Amino acid sequence: MKIIMLGAPGAGKGTQAKKIAAKYDIPHISTGDIFRANIKNGTELGNKAKTYMDQGLLVPDELVVDLVVDRVQQDDCKNGYVLDGFPRTIPQAEALDKALAALGDKVDYAIDVNVPDENIVNRMGGRRACVGCGATYHLVYAPTKTEGICDVCGKELILRDDDKPETVQKRLNVYHEQTQPLIDYYTKAGILKTVDGTVDINDVFAAIVEILGA
Ligand code: ADP
Ligand code: ADP
Ligand code: ZN
Repeated sequence: MKIIMLGAPGAGKGTQAKKIAAKYDIPHISTGDIFRANIKNGTELGNKAKTYMDQGLLVPDELVVDLVVDRVQQDDCKNGYVLDGFPRTIPQAEALDKALAALGDKVDYAIDVNVPDENIVNRMGGRRACVGCGATYHLVYAPTKTEGICDVCGKELILRDDDKPETVQKRLNVYHEQTQPLIDYYTKAGILKTVDGTVDINDVFAAIVEILGA
């Protein structure tokens, strides 16, 4: 099962992708996580990506396409994967389709987690990320057992630099301009599925399982 997660920043793509990965036993591939790991390790890719990410802009297609195309050909992706945060532009989607077609393969589902902009700004202020393992929480909607401490690895939680309100607005604009056209793209491809992302985390997941099958 090859799945793409679509949705605005903060719509809950990562939250749902992790749950899908666990239930269907397929890898969760988050380009945002890959970039953040590279930034943390001070790699050349990380340094390049950071200047864009800090401004709420997309990293150029050429820095992300090959990385994902290589990743989905690794052994653990044989039975499928869930892509979170990729594709984010039409050229990225076209590049993925082309690379998969060359392997006799294709994407099965594009799941759009639909959340209006008004809800997003509110949600992002409460998002907290673990500095150690990248796990994501929310102060109100997905709290940790101990305040400020990651349930998974025990490290501290931070507000991502790009989750500050001024950058969130910028990222929403970028989303509408560059990523939302993918909704049309995957509708035309006949694989778009939309779920209401404003309901409780477990109810969003139930709607997704309904689509993918138990
Ligand atoms: P979000 O929580 O907004 O969905 P992500 O963690 O997926 O954020 O991405 C954070 C940032 O990383 C983006 O704002 C962008 O700068 C960069 N990024 C991640 N994936 C891509 C991609 N496929 N193309 C371009 N930039 C990307
Ligand atoms: P994305 O990967 O799309 O940027 P996340 O999965 O990181 O989004 O979710 C953004 C924030 O909203 C996180 O703090 C997360 O805990 C919270 N969140 C995710 N889904 C829901 C939901 N259905 N209701 C309320 N809060 C949610
Ligand atoms: Zn952690």
